[in-house]
Amino acid sequence: MQKYDIIIIGGGITGCAIARELSKYRLKIAVCEAAADVAAGTTKANGGIIHAGDDPVPGTLKAFLNSKGCLMYPILSEKLGFRFRKKGSMVVGFDEHDHAVLKKLLERGRLNGAPNLELIQGERIFDLEPETNRKAKYALYTPHTGMVDPFEVAIAFCENAVDNGAQFYLSSPVTAIRRAEDGTFTVTTPKGELTGNYLVNCAGVHADDVARLAGADEFTIRARHGDLLVMDKNCGIQDVMTLYPVPKPETKGVVLMNTVSGNILVGSTAVMMDKDDVASYREGIDELLSGANRLIEKLNTRKVIRTFAGNRAVVVDNNNDFYIRPSKKVEGLFHVAGIQSPGIASSPAIAAYVAQMLKAYGVPMTEKEHFIDERRPPVDFSELSMEERDRLIRENPAYGRIVCRCECVTEGEIIDALHRNPQPTTVDAVKRRTRAGMGRCQGGFCQQKVLGIMAKELGRSPTQINLGRADSQIVYSKLKEGC
Ligand SMILES: Cc1cc2nc3c(=O)[nH]c(=O)nc-3n(C[C@H](O)[C@H](O)[C@H](O)COP(=O)(O)OP(=O)(O)OC[C@H]3O[C@@H](n4cnc5c(N)ncnc54)[C@H](O)[C@@H]3O)c2cc1C
Repeated sequence: MQKYDIIIIGGGITGCAIARELSKYRLKIAVCEAAADVAAGTTKANGGIIHAGDDPVPGTLKAFLNSKGCLMYPILSEKLGFRFRKKGSMVVGFDEHDHAVLKKLLERGRLNGAPNLELIQGERIFDLEPETNRKAKYALYTPHTGMVDPFEVAIAFCENAVDNGAQFYLSSPVTAIRRAEDGTFTVTTPKGELTGNYLVNCAGVHADDVARLAGADEFTIRARHGDLLVMDKNCGIQDVMTLYPVPKPETKGVVLMNTVSGNILVGSTAVMMDKDDVASYREGIDELLSGANRLIEKLNTRKVIRTFAGNRAVVVDNNNDFYIRPSKKVEGLFHVAGIQSPGIASSPAIAAYVAQMLKAYGVPMTEKEHFIDERRPPVDFSELSMEERDRLIRENPAYGRIVCRCECVTEGEIIDALHRNPQPTTVDAVKRRTRAGMGRCQGGFCQQKVLGIMAKELGRSPTQINLGRADSQIVYSKLKEGC
């Protein structure tokens, strides 16, 4: 049985960021993730906004960790080689009622320490974002708001943690937890058992279920479902600043944002639903399309190429705050739960906070002498100059074969992704690492090519390669020779 100092349960952005942070210390770390890939839960289904910290209620843990996390992103993006784009955001107001709310938001943002906030009006709004609805009168401008592809960040944290010795067990849902007399935990997964001195519970919407497995029935999580949609790149607008409407008490409203890859993304609805329900709902999509048009009238709402949904983990009776603390009932167990929005923006600060919490609890933590703080960034062929492309193709002709025409992804990029650690084993995992299949045709043309490359590189039959989940087989059998 493998023995670890710390076992982290859940490989979303929270678990991956914590694994990386703890791998700075002389600790043996394991991460158990139920899905076949990291970042396959809520981390893959959200807006990817790096909020500047202006929104959370002042004095909450969320407010503290959001403002800190946002400021950590520029450096992390350099070191870990993920894309981070800081274009700012505006909360847009249309009348005097909105103006009054914006004044309160400004006050709240300043209390939270969000830098350089400005309440603006008139032409300044359109100077900053010419596409904004001309009926807008007021706006709260937040220059530090950024954007990431959230799964890219989580994968970067994960790969860097692995470079520093952490071990990731994928397709390994924790189904039972035992604590021995000496305080050691044994966790059971379908692939076997692991033991650890401490457990960190980062299981997203299922963190309350994991807590119960360990005998710590301390909190309940409800899921707040959010629909989102992705627009084609020719939807009438490009390269816009993130725009919000004036929020309501229960939601930030329909937000329009530009992903780091150049698509317009519209999100998110907020409806309480079953934890595992990540279906897209028609009412939600309609609400998003009309809300987006209110912010930018020019948006062509017929150009939706994808809808998806994620669930925010809300701890009941916790004032919508993060729930990060040692268990009240089980020694050596730590909860990092209720990581609802802005969990992506806060994740690096959450990880640093958890490391401090473990230290204060008495976990022996000695810093390593040789922590590797940089990760080899993946090649993004679509972003290279002609000269760089030529040089790369001469070195490796696989970079001269385009697999995904919509997003200009080459065979070389897919092969590189397949030889990273942890190795992606599903088509969706390759998509999250390379963007193959994320364009207009949504994999219609390239999915079978990706499948073929995966089968060859992984030494498997195409029938053994799934789309994402364990039951999502793409190819069932061979119909005729020569296929
Ligand atoms: C619609 C929507 C929009 C959002 N927009 C933003 C935004 O713009 N900016 C922002 O900062 N935040 C945003 N968020 C919030 C953000 O997505 C979350 O805070 C973040 O993804 C939470 O990450 P996590 O790692 O805690 O949870 P998850 O990503 O859900 O990871 C938990 C992991 O635990 C695993 N797991 C569960 N049970 C077990 C078990 N028994 N054994 C092993 N593994 C287990 C799951 O498979 C999962 O991978 C949004 C959320 C939603 C839903």
